[in-house]
Amino acid sequence: MELGRLEQGGKAVKTPKVLISTAKEQEDWRRELSVQLPEADLYAGMDAPICDYAVVRKPEASLFATQTQLKAIFSLGAGVNGLLAIPTLPKDIPLVRMEDAGMASQMVEYALYAALRQFRRFSDYRQDQLRATWSPRPARSRNEFCIGVLGLGALGAEIARALAQFGFRVSGWSRTAKTIPDVTCEQGDDGLRRMLARSEMLLVLLPLTDATRGLLDETRMGQLPVGASIVNLARGELLDENALISLLDNGHIGETHLDVFEHEPLPSEHPFWRHPRVRMTPHIAALTDARLAARQVASKIRQLEAGHPITGVVDRRAQY
Ligand code: NAP
Repeated sequence: MELGRLEQGGKAVKTPKVLISTAKEQEDWRRELSVQLPEADLYAGMDAPICDYAVVRKPEASLFATQTQLKAIFSLGAGVNGLLAIPTLPKDIPLVRMEDAGMASQMVEYALYAALRQFRRFSDYRQDQLRATWSPRPARSRNEFCIGVLGLGALGAEIARALAQFGFRVSGWSRTAKTIPDVTCEQGDDGLRRMLARSEMLLVLLPLTDATRGLLDETRMGQLPVGASIVNLARGELLDENALISLLDNGHIGETHLDVFEHEPLPSEHPFWRHPRVRMTPHIAALTDARLAARQVASKIRQLEAGHPITGVVDRRAQY
C-alpha cells in the first residue's frame, strides 16, 4: 500500500495525486492548487503517474485514455459542453463543474451595464449625437423595465437577484421550479412564451445541451417585443446567428450584446463585427478566479476523500 503523509493524530492518510491539464496557464493553476491543497501531489503533462483526480480545462482527449483510475474530474469552467463532447471522457465517475468561483459578480456587472444602456437609451442618444440631434426622451421608472433571464443557476440567479434588487422588473426561466425574491420564475414552453412576450431585455445564461441548442430561433426571438435587446453571455450555439442578424436588420431586435459565438474566435468576415447594433466582447463576460477556483476544487477533493457528497456534479443525462 502506498502511504502518504501522517495526519496530526499519527493516522496514515493516502496522498491524493492530482493531475492538472489546461490548454493555457497550466503553471498558474498548479501554483494556486499547491497553495490550496498542500497535502496533494500535483502533476501536469502526459508523463504523470496514474492519478486520483484530474483538474481540466480544454484537456487533450488522450489524457483520459491513459488516466484510467480517476475518482473525479474537475472542470475549471462552469460550462461543460466541450468536455462532454470528448469521446474518451469517462462516463462512470463524477464530472464536477465550477460553481460561481468569482464569475457571478462579473456576470452581474455585465448585465447591469447592458440593462442601464438600454433602460437609459444611451445608444439612442449616441445615434442622436452622430446626427447632431437634440432629442430628450421621457424618464421611466425602473419597475416598468422588464428583463428576462434564461437560466437561473449559479450565474443566472445571481443576475436576476441583483437586477431585481436594483428595482427592475425581472422574470427568470429554468428547467425546475425556483423561488427568488421579487423575481417571477417561469418554467416550460408556456412560461418561456410568457417571459419572452414581456422582456425588453433578454439575458441568456443557459448551459449548452441537446435541449437548449438553438433554443433562440427566429420564432422565439420574434416573440420578444419590438426593439428588445438580447444579451448572450452563455454559449453562441444557444441562438441562431443568421436569424438574429435578420431580426436586427428588420429592426425587431434593437441592440444585442454578444460575448459568445458559434465559432470562436469569431471569423473576421462575420457580419457581427461590423453590425451597428451589435456590441461584442471576446468571451470574457466572467473569467474563473484562479484562487477561488483552486479553493473550491481543494475543498471538494477533501470532501470526496472523506467520503462526503459534493455539489456541482454534472447530471450526465441533463448535460449540465
Ligand atoms: P448552472 O448553475 O448549471 O445553471 C443552468 C441554469 O439553466 C439552471 O437554472 C437550469 O435549470 C437552466 N436550464 C438548463 N437546461 C434548461 C432547459 N432545458 N430549460 C430551462 N432551463 C434550463 O450554470 P451556470 O453556472 O449558471 O452557467 C450557465 C452557463 O453560462 C454555463 O453553462 C456556461 O455555458 C456559461 N458561462 C459563460 C461564461 C462567459 O464568460 N461567457 C462564463 C461562465 C459560464 P435548473 O435550475 O432547473 O437546473
